[in-house]
Amino acid sequence: MNLVTTISEARALLDAARRQGRSVGLVPTMGYLHTGHRSLIERSVADNDVTMVTIFVNPLQFAADEDLATYPRDLDADLALCAQAGVSIVLAPTVHEMYPLEPITTVQVAQLSAHMEGAKRPTHFAGVATVVSKLFNIAGPCRAYFGEKDYQQLAIIRRMVLDLSFPVDVVGCPIIREDNGVAMSSRNAYLSPEERSAAAVLNRSLRAAVRVIEDGQRDPEAVRALVLAMIGDTELVSEPDYVEIVDADSLEPLDVISGDVRIILAARVGKPRLLDNIGVSVG
Ligand code: AMP
Repeated sequence: MNLVTTISEARALLDAARRQGRSVGLVPTMGYLHTGHRSLIERSVADNDVTMVTIFVNPLQFAADEDLATYPRDLDADLALCAQAGVSIVLAPTVHEMYPLEPITTVQVAQLSAHMEGAKRPTHFAGVATVVSKLFNIAGPCRAYFGEKDYQQLAIIRRMVLDLSFPVDVVGCPIIREDNGVAMSSRNAYLSPEERSAAAVLNRSLRAAVRVIEDGQRDPEAVRALVLAMIGDTELVSEPDYVEIVDADSLEPLDVISGDVRIILAARVGKPRLLDNIGVSVG
């Protein structure tokens, strides 16, 4: 496995691989890798001849009052996981390597970034779209793997690739969960044991929502009320920032539940905000 810290080294390795006819997979991460990241990496290793994992805590996607300084990091453990999973290249650049100057060119994916996470974190998705654009420009033609855990982010990246003609096939991967149903996240490291078990209500409420939809409920307000009531009854879990019932492709809120639907929520459990979502198809 090659550990590189510069854009030019990563480019040179991937260009050489492609010249030999080898396919490239890209897995962008902020590190502190867990089994959720590992599932993306394993999928890329299975699908491609060469996999590059990037580890970069991107300052551009954190607001001033967010956890950039304390975001968990463990490069040695990340490298061990990558080596074991069959990764060919890890790119772990410094902030200066990625942003030698404060960027004045940014990528905005307008409507898709306006609601849910985007309403709560107005500068977040421009930061994500900008760094992912840079990583796509560094990696070149490739398949790129993203988790459905960050469902809105995945939709934004798919749309950005379409709008800007990046030579990238975006592959969405299912959410990997802890035994109690909590979606795995690097930020789960912030949870106390009590918070970790309280957090299970998020996925429990989503599964209950899917059950009532499968039983015939088509009113999004009724489904939202069920989710809010279950979460509202749980100590240590805040009132959700949002619970949205949206079209799975366009992310438009639905008046009537039909077609491929995604239920997406965010709530604070103790200090960290946790995200979760679930899909359901209505025939
Ligand atoms: P992050 O390091 O949090 O920026 O995540 C890097 C990538 O891993 C993103 O595409 C995430 O959606 C994905 N990811 C994070 N947690 C999970 C999970 N529990 N299941 C599946 N994918 C995940």
